[in-house]
Amino acid sequence: MRKRRKEFNSILAIIKPLFAEMNRAVFLDRDGVLIEERNYLHRVEDAAFLPGVAAALKRLSDAGFKLFIVSNQSGVGRGYFTLADVERVNEHLCRELARAGVRFEKIYIAPEAPGQPSLGRKPSPQFLFDARDEFGVDLAQSFMIGDKLIDLECGWNGGVKKSILVRTGYGAKLERKSPEPLKLAVMVDDLNGAADWILKNLQPPT
Ligand SMILES: [Mg+2]
Repeated sequence: MRKRRKEFNSILAIIKPLFAEMNRAVFLDRDGVLIEERNYLHRVEDAAFLPGVAAALKRLSDAGFKLFIVSNQSGVGRGYFTLADVERVNEHLCRELARAGVRFEKIYIAPEAPGQPSLGRKPSPQFLFDARDEFGVDLAQSFMIGDKLIDLECGWNGGVKKSILVRTGYGAKLERKSPEPLKLAVMVDDLNGAADWILKNLQPPT
């Protein structure tokens, strides 16, 4: 009996890290990270991928990361456009990326305007917690990539391994202002640089 348990434990020791690896995730802001930042973008024809995005996402996905979009879309709460507009843009992005073999596990949208009650609006980490609960994501082995301080804060609030600032979108402007918390973040040129950093700093899960 004791031998059995010993065997079971040694098998568990082998299997456990494999599961941990399966449940790593990268949480991505949308505007300014995946597509060009355009104020209150809501039309499919205005959605332009930043260079190298599909390839960068594919590399992360191939390395075993689940991919999630976490996006504030206050234009909905402000009455500038509808949630259906947001979904149309997202469907378009998913369709285009599917051609490159990339898929998102889930897309989280916070449609509220600032000041409106919201569970998920960044810097709230609620959607990261939701992903943890629904998909078994190990947040401590996961990453958040964004172009605003609220993106980075969302990651920190959720307990991710690292929040990464890209210089695309509002990122370069934020870097110039260099607010104190930025010291905790990694700074890279774009999503491709973020993928490089993540894959280079990947440690085998313990
Ligand atoms: Mg953004």
